[in-house]
Amino acid sequence: MLTARRRVGNFALAATMKLAVIAVALLLPLVAGVADFDFFYLVQQWPGSFCDTQTGCCFPDTGKPAPEFGIHGLWPNYAKCRAAGPELVEDVAMVVDGTTAAVDAVERRQKCWPENCDDRNPLKPWEIKDLVAELDANWPTLSCKSGRSMEFWSYEWKKHGTCSGMGQHEYFAAALELKKRHSLAAILADAGVVPSDNESYFLSSIRDAIAGATGAVPNLECNRDASGETQLFQVYQCVDRSAKKLVDCQLPMQGKCRDRVKLPTF
Ligand code: 5GP
Repeated sequence: MLTARRRVGNFALAATMKLAVIAVALLLPLVAGVADFDFFYLVQQWPGSFCDTQTGCCFPDTGKPAPEFGIHGLWPNYAKCRAAGPELVEDVAMVVDGTTAAVDAVERRQKCWPENCDDRNPLKPWEIKDLVAELDANWPTLSCKSGRSMEFWSYEWKKHGTCSGMGQHEYFAAALELKKRHSLAAILADAGVVPSDNESYFLSSIRDAIAGATGAVPNLECNRDASGETQLFQVYQCVDRSAKKLVDCQLPMQGKCRDRVKLPTF
């Protein structure tokens, strides 16, 4: 009898300890401010390919950007996509009036990166005022929503930067430092891939040129120009958690590219 009671007691203790370990594991990243992600994508966009689509583009208040790749963002990412949490399931299920099929579909949704990690931490322009000139030159907005690049940076900070574990100044300085290390346009030009409105290039030659010059294999994303031709749009460089070291991109990407792509003039 006593042994049985002790066994139940031991079981309860073990279960409580297990729960405590799980709770600590879940809470630790929040308490310690440790950001939960595996690597960054430094994403750079080719302005020619942003502008010659059906949507078009607008130049920022600071004028036409240089014909260089511009930063789109520095995005914390997971090495392996995860099932989205139950919150999302309920939200979307309500929107689609809760049919079983819809709920099943939603339950299979994946989350491949963290986003909007701290709504109470909006970008404060004075925090990055010493970086503004460099950001204007290297991270210009091309969207017609507004000519103010600061709005683009605020959006990127809110959605991605707040999940980076970095402070605001540190985050933007890290992105600029990474971009400064290599000029993607110069790397492509050295490989004979120059902006042209007629020429097309092997996607593999673009990937190989960037991998050779930077020491790390990138992911590539394409879009379509106004007449439907496939063109290189964005280069994703993978960066380790310290935001300092380029690493090979391991995750295959559905980048909408073809074997041959264009690089339009800007
Ligand atoms: P994300 O791809 O980071 O989720 O969203 C980019 C957001 O920034 C969109 O709302 C887009 O309209 C806005 N945006 C402002 N300027 C630019 C730009 O130059 N390039 C891109 N891709 N998005 C921009």
